[in-house]
Amino acid sequence: MKHKVIIRRCERYDAGLIAGIIKEGMQEFGVRPRGRVLFKPNTVLAQPEVFPYAFTRAEFLEGAIMAARELGQDVSQMAVGERCGITIPTRFCFKNAGFLPVLKRQGAQALYFDEARQAPVALSHPERLRDELYLPRPVMDCDFLINLPKFKAHPWTRLTLSLKNFIGLQDDRFRLLDHNTFLEQKIVDLNHAVQAGFIAIDGIVAGQRMMLTPEPFDLGVIVMGVNPCAVDTVGCHMVGVEPRDLIHLKMASQQGLGPMDLAEVEVGGDFPLDELQAKTKDFQFCLERVDDYFGAESNLSCTVGGFPEKHSRDYCWGGCPGALQEAMHILRGYYPGVDQKMQKVRYVVGKVEGPLDLAPDEKVLFAGACTSWQGEIDGEPVDIQSSYNECRRRTSEEAKSNDMLLKNLEATGKCLKSRSRRWLHAPACTMSVADHVHYLSFLGKVGNPNFDKRTLLPANVAYWQMRGRRAWNRLAK
Ligand code: SF4
Repeated sequence: MKHKVIIRRCERYDAGLIAGIIKEGMQEFGVRPRGRVLFKPNTVLAQPEVFPYAFTRAEFLEGAIMAARELGQDVSQMAVGERCGITIPTRFCFKNAGFLPVLKRQGAQALYFDEARQAPVALSHPERLRDELYLPRPVMDCDFLINLPKFKAHPWTRLTLSLKNFIGLQDDRFRLLDHNTFLEQKIVDLNHAVQAGFIAIDGIVAGQRMMLTPEPFDLGVIVMGVNPCAVDTVGCHMVGVEPRDLIHLKMASQQGLGPMDLAEVEVGGDFPLDELQAKTKDFQFCLERVDDYFGAESNLSCTVGGFPEKHSRDYCWGGCPGALQEAMHILRGYYPGVDQKMQKVRYVVGKVEGPLDLAPDEKVLFAGACTSWQGEIDGEPVDIQSSYNECRRRTSEEAKSNDMLLKNLEATGKCLKSRSRRWLHAPACTMSVADHVHYLSFLGKVGNPNFDKRTLLPANVAYWQMRGRRAWNRLAK
């Protein structure tokens, strides 16, 4: 029997209109949410001025809750849960995304996964990266999960649809573990551990190129289904991507999670695929290596070496280089023209051999645990050694906390220690987007969005609320 996916037209963010469409979708699939219902939007980052297109819109969330409420059976709880990205407290992003009035109106609860207790889930499929992964308790305790991704391009994985949205299930401590050349299998492992009962993708305004700072594209659709591989296969065809080029989809399909062949999918709804393909022929992606990405007009340039894993010697798609691109886009969002205004910075990643041929005033960021280089800078010997194996061997229990305040302090300390020389070594695997922002702003002598007045106070208030609530949750249960 074929899997089914529905593409429905929806031109505007109107909660009532969206509720009607999602309700009809649920009815077509025979879906009836029950018990503790958990909605998982994509709120990786939300800030109305700088990141307006990165997240599932509040009207979409509200429509999904309304539809589930109408069709639900013995529903005991409606909750919305997420762990947003780059160490920022999720409650900060929920507020910025406009979710709080929706939750109040709909009588739904916010479940911030960075405040929840985390627990191990055993994995048994042969391809798994680890024998267990950690998930927030509310995910494990829910009876019916509704996955609400945002339709976006992605600089690490090409597209983020329903499979990839599960990266936001994990707290920062576990999220960056294996977020490197193993990212695709990590996404698949999460999908082995958790299955949604229904998927509705917010493709009304889709995101192009980047995932934190996407450019809007009026796609005008809601995509619905119950199998993530089938939904993502259709999503790929909607924007002219061959499903087997979405590596995590290919792996998920090969590991039995669903199809990646359109012939195995029945596509329904009122927006024919060929019409959509014509509409999206100019949809923009960013899947460029960092050494090709920043042109001659930018004061940032990159030297990329070799990488340690056999399956991906020439590049690390899931780790530091992609984080660099996102970090530069964040800086561009806060400080237009930053590429020209910043001082010259050379970004060095991977195993690099030979001279760097630096300009006299050029700073150097040796990024990532796998990076190594020996040479001279300003007549002084510099020996950067790889600590990659040490990072790779780290167990889930040994994973670093990646707490926002600790990371800010650590990065600031590293910058201060490096102020008398023109290079800095940040040996993490993966080095986060937030760390990239710190180091680029320090070396490039430009503003630091981590301390920008538009976000500094509210993000820090949310941080301390998060710490308080997390401590309470640990004591209370
Ligand atoms: S250190 Fe960075 S670039 Fe190197 S393998 Fe890890 S994530 Fe990839």
